[in-house]
Parts: sequence; C-alpha cells; structure tokens
Amino acid sequence: MKNIITKSIITKDIAIRNNGNRVAIIPIFVPHAGCPHDCVFCNQRRITAHSEASTLEEIHKIVDRNLTTIHAKNHAKEDIHTEIAFFGGSFTAIDVAEQEQYLGIAKELKAVGKIDGIRISTRPDCIDDVVIARLKSYDVDLVELGAQSFDDDVLIASNRGHSTSDVACAMKRLKAAGFQTGLQLMVGLPGDTKAKSIESARRAAALSPDVARIYPVVVLKDTALADQMCDGRYIPWAELEMVDTVKEMYKILTESGANVIRVGLKSTDNIRNDSESVLSDYHPAFFELVLSEIALETMIRVFDAQNRDE
Ligand code: SF4
Repeated sequence: MKNIITKSIITKDIAIRNNGNRVAIIPIFVPHAGCPHDCVFCNQRRITAHSEASTLEEIHKIVDRNLTTIHAKNHAKEDIHTEIAFFGGSFTAIDVAEQEQYLGIAKELKAVGKIDGIRISTRPDCIDDVVIARLKSYDVDLVELGAQSFDDDVLIASNRGHSTSDVACAMKRLKAAGFQTGLQLMVGLPGDTKAKSIESARRAAALSPDVARIYPVVVLKDTALADQMCDGRYIPWAELEMVDTVKEMYKILTESGANVIRVGLKSTDNIRNDSESVLSDYHPAFFELVLSEIALETMIRVFDAQNRDE
C-alpha cells in the first residue's frame, strides 16, 4: 500500500516514472474531428477547450514552448523522457492525410532527438492491420484506447458503438505489434454501478496495459447525458460514491502493474466547478480525494494492527 501512495504522488503532475525514467507529456489536442460517433457524455470541443485542431505551425510552437518549460524545470535533460501525445478525439479515425501530417512532425522531432516518444489515443474499434502498419511506420510508441467500461450494457447505454471484445481484440493486436498500451476507463456512465466499475478495472488490469486513466463522469452542457439528466433518466453519482469506487479501481490497476497516469478530468477554462458548461459535481483535485482515502485506509490498518499487537 505504501508503494501505491508513493507512486501516485509522483504521477500526479504528469511527470511519471516509466522504466526508471521520468516522463513529460506534450499534449496536442485533436478535437472531435472525424469522429462519426456520438457518445452520450462527449462534447470534445468543450473538453479540449479548442474549437479547431492545432495547425502544423501551432504544433511546432506548442512543442518548443513545452520543451523550454520542461528543460527549465529539469536541468539534466537525460533524466526526462519527453513524449508528444495526440489526444482529444479518435486519432486513427481522422482523415489519413491529416494523421500522416501530425505523425510526420512527431516522427521528425523524434528523429532529431527533440522528443523521445510518440503516443496517441483512439477508439478500440479504430485499430486494424492497416492502422497498426501506419502507426509503426511513424514510430508511434504507445496507443491508448478509450475502453470506458468492460460492461456491454453500459457501453450500449452510453452509445459508444463498440463492445468489450473490441477492446480485448485491439489490445491483443497492439501488443503483438510491439506497442506500449494504455486503457482509459470512465466511472458513473448510464447503467454503471460500483460493482460494474470495479469489475471493469479488474478486466482492464487483466489485459496488462502499461498505463491507465480513470475518469469519473462529468456531465457537460450540450451533450445527450445533459438531456438525460434534465429529464431524470440519468442521475450523476454522489462524490462520496465516486471517490470510493475510483479508489478501489485505482488500487486494482496500480497493484497489477499499470501506471495510472491520470485520475479525474483535467481542469481547463471550460471545465471548472463554477463553469456553466459543467452540470454535475466536478472536483479539480479529485485524485487528491482518492489518495486521501487510500492514506486513511492505510493508517486505520496500521493502527488496528498495532492495537492487536499490544
Ligand atoms: S468516440 Fe470519442 S470523440 Fe467520438 S463521440 Fe465518443 S468520446 Fe467523443
């Protein structure tokens, strides 16, 4: 348990330990572009706080700005493993020419040693042999899949448009091709329960992802989930229930060896608890709540053990 807490505190600022190296991630947001799906919780434009995808020129600027900050904070460059990450939408579902433009820049930056790795996030049903060959040819290192839940009823109620078997199949293909992998899970989707979420964490852990993220559902304005909430078909989980569930999921994933690199949606200009875009509870330091609960559990266990020994 002590190891879990120590590891979590290191991971919370994105700088994470991976094979002994600290990792700094430079995020490039690729909003909803190209996604033909309509998941009930999704308003990608709002989540990413960008209405347009970054241009190629902007990507160069973002990378340079981030590298300056990373190196200013970390004097010994060799201690830091720097990765460019294409997040926000379903990367492998966007126009192929666009993917290749993005990946071309990343590959070039990697080739000249400005960055050390490339990661993308996508849907489990947007991985096939052609996609894998393309990602390989551009030296992508890690692919994160938005699994969200390992309960098919929850996936259907959330209008995800893929099944749990798509996740297992995509993970198998990615691992066989030599990619590092990541899984993203959501908690509190329509039809979800604490038991289902914990089972999702177990099934995700069984697929041995290198990294994982856990996102409690936040209801955003202008989404199908917001409509369901307004007419009473969806009731957001209470914060206490959410913390308790995520705590168990975090422990399962961490103990399985997955590096849990994010817990809770990142605070942005639009994602704040006082934002009119956010219709349900949102805690900007949700991860701290989870860590506090784990620390409390540990303390109670230690005190109980001491009392028993006396
Ligand atoms: S697949 Fe991703 S980008 Fe597309 S609607 Fe769902 S969450 Fe949004």
